[in-house]
Amino acid sequence: MVRYCRRCLMPDTRPRIEFDADGVCNACHHAERKKRIDWDARRREFLELVEEFRPREGPYDCIVPWSGGKDSSTIAHRLKFEFGLNPLLVTFSPLMPNEIAVHNRQALIDLGFDHLMVQANGKVSRRLAKRFFIERGDPKIHWNAGVNAVPVQAAVHYNIPLIFYAEHGESEYGGRVLSEDHLKLRDFAEVLEHQIGDDPLNWVDEEIEEHDLAPYAYPDLGEVERVGVKALYFAYFFRWSMLENYTYIKDKFDFHLAENGRTDGTFTNFDSLDDKIDNLYYHMQFIKFGFGRAVRDSCRMIQNGQMTRAEGLELVRRYDDEFPATYHDEHLAYLDLDEPTFTDVIDKHRDPQIWEFSGNRWTLRHPPE
Ligand SMILES: [Zn+2]
Repeated sequence: MVRYCRRCLMPDTRPRIEFDADGVCNACHHAERKKRIDWDARRREFLELVEEFRPREGPYDCIVPWSGGKDSSTIAHRLKFEFGLNPLLVTFSPLMPNEIAVHNRQALIDLGFDHLMVQANGKVSRRLAKRFFIERGDPKIHWNAGVNAVPVQAAVHYNIPLIFYAEHGESEYGGRVLSEDHLKLRDFAEVLEHQIGDDPLNWVDEEIEEHDLAPYAYPDLGEVERVGVKALYFAYFFRWSMLENYTYIKDKFDFHLAENGRTDGTFTNFDSLDDKIDNLYYHMQFIKFGFGRAVRDSCRMIQNGQMTRAEGLELVRRYDDEFPATYHDEHLAYLDLDEPTFTDVIDKHRDPQIWEFSGNRWTLRHPPE
C-alpha cells in the first residue's frame, strides 16, 4: 500500500521520507517550521559569516555551483548585486546540454561573472550513463557525483574556502535530517551516502581507468581541511521557493523557458532546463518510486502556499505519467540503445508493489488521491 502525504502529494515511497501519525510528511513539517523562522536574524547571521570570510587573498569571495537555472542564478545574482561579493560560478557540464541553458548561462555571465566549466570525458560519461540507466534506472549517478565533487575540487584548487549551495534536499523535500546544523552546513559524508551511494573508484571496468574518474571524485579530505572549505546552504539564510527564485531571475535577463511551453511530465516551464536527460531522469523516478515531476513540482508549491492540494492533484493526474518524448530520440542515441531494449530497461525498474500490468498497460496500483 502506498500512502500519500495528506497535506502535499508525496508518497511514502520517496526514499527516507517520514510520515507522522496524522499522515503528514516531514517536508510539510519543515515548510511549517520555515514560516516561524526569524529571517532577519538569519540574514544577520549570513552577513556575519560573509564578513568572517571576506578578508582574504584572491579575487573570489566564494564559489557558487551553478547550472544556469533559476535557483543557482538567483543565488549568484543576489550574492553579487545585493551583497557585493565576487563569486566564481562553477558548472559541471550537463550530460546532454540543452541550448536553453547555454543561452541562460551566457546571459548571466554577460551581466558580470567569471565562470569555470568542467566537462568530463564524453566517452566515459556516456558509458557510465548507459550502465547506470540499465543497472540502476538512473542515467545520472556519475553526474551527481561530479556535480558534488567539482565545486569542492575548484575550492581546493583556487583556494576559495566558501561555497554556497542552494537547498538542503533532505529537509526541503522529505528525507532524513541528521541535525539542525545539517540545514545550514553541507555535510560531505551525508551527500556521498544519500546522493551518490558509492565510491566513484568502484566504477573502474575494462574500458574505464581510475584516472578517468577524476572529475567524479572528492578531493582528499586533508586538502579540503587545509583550505578550510565551508559549504553553506543559501536556503538556510533566505526563504527558499523555486517559484520566487524564478520570479526574481526572469526580469534580470532574457531567461529562456522550456520549449513547447512546459517540460515533459509536469506543468512547469522554468525548472531544471539545462540537461536534456533530466526529462528521462525524472521519468525514471516515476518508474522506480511512483512519483514523477508533476508530484515533485506541485509538492514544492503546495508547501510554499502557492497551490492547493486539490489543484496539485489535478495537475499530477494530467501530467505525472507523461512519457519524456521531447528528447526521446536523442536519449536513445546518447545511451546507444534501441527502442525495445530501452523499454525493457524501464519495465525492469518498475517496482511490483507500485505498478500493475492490466489492460495492456502499466498503471499505478495506488494512484494519488
Ligand atoms: Zn507532505
